[in-house]
Formats: sequence, C-alpha cells, structure tokens
Amino acid sequence: MLAEIKGLNEECGVFGIWGHKNAAQIAYYGLHSLQHRGQEGAGIVVNDGEKLIGHKGLGLITEVFSHGELDMLGGNAAIGHVRYATAGGGGYENVQPLLFHSQTGSLALAHNGNLVNANRLKHELERQGSIFQTTSDTEVLAHLLRRHNEFPLVDRVKVALNKIQGAYAFLIMTETHLLVALDPNGFRPLALGKLGDAYVVASETCAFDIVGATYIRDVEPGELLIISDEGLESQVFTTETQHAICSMEYIYFSRPDSSIDGINVHAARKNMGKKLAKEAPVEADVVTGVPDSSISAAIGFAEATGIPYELGLIKNRYVGRTFIQPSQELRERGVKMKLSPVRGIVEGKRVVMIDDSIVRGTTSRHIVQMLRDAGATEVHVRIAAPPIVNPCYYGIDTSTREELIASNHSIEEMRDLIGADSLAFLSEDGLVEAIDRKHTNGCGGQCMACFNGNYPTPIYEDELVHQQS
Ligand code: SF4
Repeated sequence: MLAEIKGLNEECGVFGIWGHKNAAQIAYYGLHSLQHRGQEGAGIVVNDGEKLIGHKGLGLITEVFSHGELDMLGGNAAIGHVRYATAGGGGYENVQPLLFHSQTGSLALAHNGNLVNANRLKHELERQGSIFQTTSDTEVLAHLLRRHNEFPLVDRVKVALNKIQGAYAFLIMTETHLLVALDPNGFRPLALGKLGDAYVVASETCAFDIVGATYIRDVEPGELLIISDEGLESQVFTTETQHAICSMEYIYFSRPDSSIDGINVHAARKNMGKKLAKEAPVEADVVTGVPDSSISAAIGFAEATGIPYELGLIKNRYVGRTFIQPSQELRERGVKMKLSPVRGIVEGKRVVMIDDSIVRGTTSRHIVQMLRDAGATEVHVRIAAPPIVNPCYYGIDTSTREELIASNHSIEEMRDLIGADSLAFLSEDGLVEAIDRKHTNGCGGQCMACFNGNYPTPIYEDELVHQQS
C-alpha cells in the first residue's frame, strides 16, 4: 500500500482474546497481521483476573515488543491495538490500549474509529471535574464510564455508548469482563471468532487466520458482546441501527485475505476491476495495478477485457517508514523510493494503470511519469472507486476538502494534472454492485460519504474545526 505517501490513512486495528493461557502472545501475532491499519504505535494490556498490566510504545509492534516485554505480560485475557494517529495527535500518551486504575478496579480501552462529538463531550466532562490524561477522543469513554459507579458495568457501558457518536469498534476490559461494542452504523469491521475455548475479536479476519482461530461472525451495529469466564452473551445498546460500513475498507484498507460480512476483500476488489472495465473500457496492450491494494482490481480489469495483466510496477518493501515525511517534497521522493516501473514490461506499450483512489493527485502524477519515463507510449488511468470529494470524519485521514483534487477539479482537469492519456473512475452504482453486500438500503449497507457527502451521522461544525486543526 501507498497509504503514507498518498495521504489516505487508516486509524487503527484492535484485537482481543478471553480465556487463553497465552493471551499476550496471541494478541501480539493478531496485531502483527493488523499492522497495515496503523504503524505509529502499538500496545497490549493483559488480565490475570486480579489486575491489568500493559506495555505500549511508538512504532511497529515488532519494535515495541523487541526486548522481551511480551514475556512479562502473563494472563489469560488481553486486548491490543495498533495506531495511526489522527484525532488527538501521535504522542506516546495517546498510544492504546489506554489503561486506568482506580480504587474500584482497572479499565483498559482499545478503539478503532473516530468520535464526531468527542470535543463537546470533553468540554462537558471537564466542566464536571474530569481531568484528561491524553488528547485522544477515546478517553472520553473512560470518563463517561466512571460516572455512576454504583451501577453495574454493563449498564454504564450502554449509557455511555448512547452518548458518543461517530465510528467506533471498542474493546473494554476489566478484571472480570471483556466488552466489545460496534457503533450503530457499523462503520469499522469487527469480527468474532473462537480459538479452542477462548473467544477472540479482531478488526479483520486475517488476524484469526494467523492465530489459528475460527471465524464465527461479524459483530453487528449497535451490538454489545459481554465476554467473561461465564461465556459470551450478546446484547444491544441501541436499536436505532443501520449498516454503513466504510466502503474504503473494501476498496483499500483491509487486507485482501480478510472477509467483511462474509465477502472476501480480494474478490470484491476484483469485481470492482471488472465493473470498471465495463464502464470505462480502453484499447491497450497491458494492464498493471499499483501495488499492493490495486492488484486485485487490475486482475479483474484484465480478466474482463482480455488485455494481459502484467507486473508493470514493483514495490520496494525495504523502505523504512522514517523516509516518508509529511511534507510535499519528501512525499514525492517517497513515491520514487517505494515504487519502480518494470521497463521490460511497459516499454513501447499502451498501459492501463489501475489504482484504487486519487487523493491529492501527486502520487498518481508521479506514477504516470514513471511509466512514461520507462517507455510506455500511452498511460490510461482507471480508478476502481468513485472520486473522493469529501473528507472523512470516521477515522480515515483523507485530508481536508481543499487538498482533495477531485473536490476542486473536473475529471478532464484531473487527467491533465496527472498527465494521463485518459482517466475514468468507477461509478457509485458500480462500486455497490461490485461489493454486492445484499443490503437493500440503496447504498449496499455502505458508507459512501467521501464520494457523495451523505454522512450517516450528524457532523458538528465545532468538532470539524477541532479535527482539522
Ligand atoms: S466517509 Fe469514506 S472513508 Fe470515511 S467511513 Fe465513509 S466511506 Fe469510509
């Protein structure tokens, strides 16, 4: 993936396990398979039934646990998190799981998503005496849970979840329980599985494969799973729900070997490529995909058109993250460090280049130029998703509207700016049909807000100022 140079970043991945003697080690391997969802911080909190202890740090999971820290985390339950920082910034204090101790017990929190009313709740809580330890939106839930301590935990969680709005897949662990909650729109993927007698939950099913767990089902929007030594119980914290999973999970973020709601991500991407071929055919000699996330769509495009799929672009896997800085100049250099054209494949050929998105347009411009420099006679760009014209407020860092090239330019202007011979995008209908989630609410049970502006939750002006600052 080219997330860090493209300006389209996931916010997090979560993993939880209850009832296994190697909980910390299993969480580690689970998080390793979710590393693509966030590379800026990682952490694990374990539970031995009497206390919660954890370790976290900045960097990749292998870097954070490189000095035997895992061996010191004993217990039969654990939650873990990999983080990409947007809301709240990227300091150590914001790395999750967040862990709180009080006289009545401990609480660990791991969150994937973004709360759209965190700022206003935080002001309210501070007025009532709360002191926040982090700048992360996630901490709001901890303070809400501390209210009315006299009531049972599950009741407090339900009340708190009904106060927050936005996207959240939450893992909440105490000495006695692991609670798992998905927001009423189900923006982020969250799956439930079993490993022997232990229950596991993860942002993506690829984490189950790596630890040998069996997939049971996806967690439902508005559902609260209550896991303890007594077993698993499913409750709901609201009945006002709908399915609005983030379309970008299928298009770009999730691993191709994951399935969301029973739909394999690679197969969905391949269908997007096939639909794109029908909607925007072109005469060419080879089809190539921008590695890694666009390869599946490129294979689908090639299959539908009969134009051979070739490896026209190679990803350099050994570029350290530290090379990629968030300035335009270094971002542009980053493209060259990360990708190379295969001259023997593209020289003298009319190339169809499949990509999954155009955010600012700079990455596409560089790749088109690379292919031309390597001898391609024509470069036709086909995007296996509709144009991104609106920012995301649900945990994806898509830049501001001003930075989104499709927000301010026509398709012809974009074609000119990226230097392609032709440019076309998959339609919204084409995307919905390609994923084929069998939901009948008109958009396939998907959030499409970055394409069409139909945000599934209220968006508050004061929160937007906060998020963009
Ligand atoms: S706005 Fe776009 S990126 Fe954000 S949740 Fe919706 S589909 Fe996903």
